[in-house]
Amino acid sequence: MRFDVITIFPEYFESPLRVGALKKARERGLIEINLINLRDFALDKHRMVDDRPFGGGEGMVFKPEPLYRAISSLRQQGAPYVVYLSPQGRLLNQEIVRELYEKGHLVLICGRYEGIDERIREHFIDDEISIGDYVVFGGEVAALVVIEAVARLVPGVVGKRDSVEKESFSQGLLKYPQYTRPRDFMGYKVPEILLSGDHAAIAKWRRKKSLEVTLKRRPDLLKKARLSEEDLEFLRQLGWREDE
Ligand code: SAM
Repeated sequence: MRFDVITIFPEYFESPLRVGALKKARERGLIEINLINLRDFALDKHRMVDDRPFGGGEGMVFKPEPLYRAISSLRQQGAPYVVYLSPQGRLLNQEIVRELYEKGHLVLICGRYEGIDERIREHFIDDEISIGDYVVFGGEVAALVVIEAVARLVPGVVGKRDSVEKESFSQGLLKYPQYTRPRDFMGYKVPEILLSGDHAAIAKWRRKKSLEVTLKRRPDLLKKARLSEEDLEFLRQLGWREDE
């Protein structure tokens, strides 16, 4: 999986890409991350990449030419899927993360200030992705979110394949609660079933807990989740109504 990140702050990524699973995945060649400084594609000697907006108003806007040149140079190296990180984009979720993973090669454009010239957005990008209904300073943090979420799907990046497949959202539900030692923490005990060694009973308990927490915290997810007759029956017992 390859990621090319277009940014005016490549140094922003220094620490996040050098720690933990991302560092290991890069070292093992499972993912490739290239940081492209937008200023290298500026046309003037001051390496200007932004300018004032036509029509007046606050802030600065990324000029179209450097962005166009950066995107074109990457398109010449293959067939990347070009994504602009923006609060106006499609709201990122696990389904979209999988879609992005399947592209195999992403170009992630990080805006700053007031964003980018509309003509780039209209004619030279393939997708626009938002990490939530709020505004942050720049697309760098959003690009990192995309990189981390997509990288987790690359086989071998997460230790046990199982732990990705059973994670929250991967099957349309939130994950069941987890416990570790000690068995008794200040009088709060680990559920007995988890200490029983009965794997079938534990799996059943976990499925029910998954359904329960999803109903409690994110009932909207149940509409799209893959549910068995047994799941539906259990949810109904908890008071869930399919038409809600
Ligand atoms: N003026 C823009 C607007 O109102 O839509 C917001 C610009 S924001 C201050 C600067 C940059 O941060 C954007 O170009 C985008 O790349 C990034 N950004 C901000 N919020 C984001 C979000 N929720 N998701 C993805 N990117 C975001």
